[in-house]
Amino acid sequence: MKANLYLGKVFGMKIKLHWTFYILLLWLAIQQLIYTTNSLLLMFLAISIVFLSVVLHELGHYLVAKKLNIKFEEINISALGGIHKYEKQSNSPKEELLVEIAGLLVNISIIIFLYSFMSLNNYNFNFFEIHKNLLNLTIQSSLIYVLNVNILLLVFNLIPVFPTDAGSILRAILTLKTNRLKATTIVSKIGFFTVLIFVLLGLIYNMLLLFIAALFLLEAYNENEFAKHVTLLKERTVKDAMLTNITTFKPQDYLHNVVNKLVVSTETDFVIKENGLVKGVLYHNDIVNNSTRKIKIKDVMNYNVEFINAEDELSKVYNLFKKKGSSFFPVIQNQKLVGAINSSNLNEYLLLLSRLYL
Ligand SMILES: [Zn+2]
Repeated sequence: MKANLYLGKVFGMKIKLHWTFYILLLWLAIQQLIYTTNSLLLMFLAISIVFLSVVLHELGHYLVAKKLNIKFEEINISALGGIHKYEKQSNSPKEELLVEIAGLLVNISIIIFLYSFMSLNNYNFNFFEIHKNLLNLTIQSSLIYVLNVNILLLVFNLIPVFPTDAGSILRAILTLKTNRLKATTIVSKIGFFTVLIFVLLGLIYNMLLLFIAALFLLEAYNENEFAKHVTLLKERTVKDAMLTNITTFKPQDYLHNVVNKLVVSTETDFVIKENGLVKGVLYHNDIVNNSTRKIKIKDVMNYNVEFINAEDELSKVYNLFKKKGSSFFPVIQNQKLVGAINSSNLNEYLLLLSRLYL
């Protein structure tokens, strides 16, 4: 499921709304229905506070990363806080540690600030009733809500499951002692047991915990896979995984020639060449959709080609597959076509690597 909504940039940091945030909106709406009859303003205030707190937390990560020259691709605002995606991860666990801790420090600072400057008589934090505080709609109650949300964000981020900060911090510390891949696997296992404990507690005490566990499970699964894959592919280049024995066609060739090839081989997409130059790519979908028509390749091929360099890191291609709709790229070396790479042959390579190293 990838319905992330792009919202805009803050200090150059790209912000997207993760699909799990919609679940949070739904939960807030239900809370409103339970506690009040009609309060759109409250709902708006609550969402803004959650949203801004998460953005501030992420800005903490982002600004420290920027100082260390580590680039973020984007941040996703999810139901459990922010998830930041690196464009390229740092090779130094110490730098990673600094970036990850910075987010937590933002929440801790907000909590300390609010706690020491507000006269909070009879304040006590109740995880299941944080929403009640907002009902009075005073400055004091709004600030208490800010405090509560920041405590929640801090608590969530201290649970050692990817993609929380604690998960990444734990991995960075373990990477200092062992290698990154082992560290990732250990954190994945700890994460799995943590989620299991959440599920058990949810069954015993409160269904909300069960709901949070389900969200964690979904996010943690994706993030664990992502973390493992990126680590496995680190320092491996496109050359290691690309298809070298590929069939090429000319723009003037008839499509039925490609259809015949499609039927008898395992190739699904094709590079189109003319006079030694790559002219475009013919995607599987376009072949199938036009297979009954008597047309030439040039009428259905895609002229907008993005090339991958044989020396490029495979993790870069992995990210590209995750981001783009197309899953097939021609590979070049010294400006000559040397092969192609598609998502299924990359997945196969990942499968082999995980059998070997995990
Ligand atoms: Zn964080």
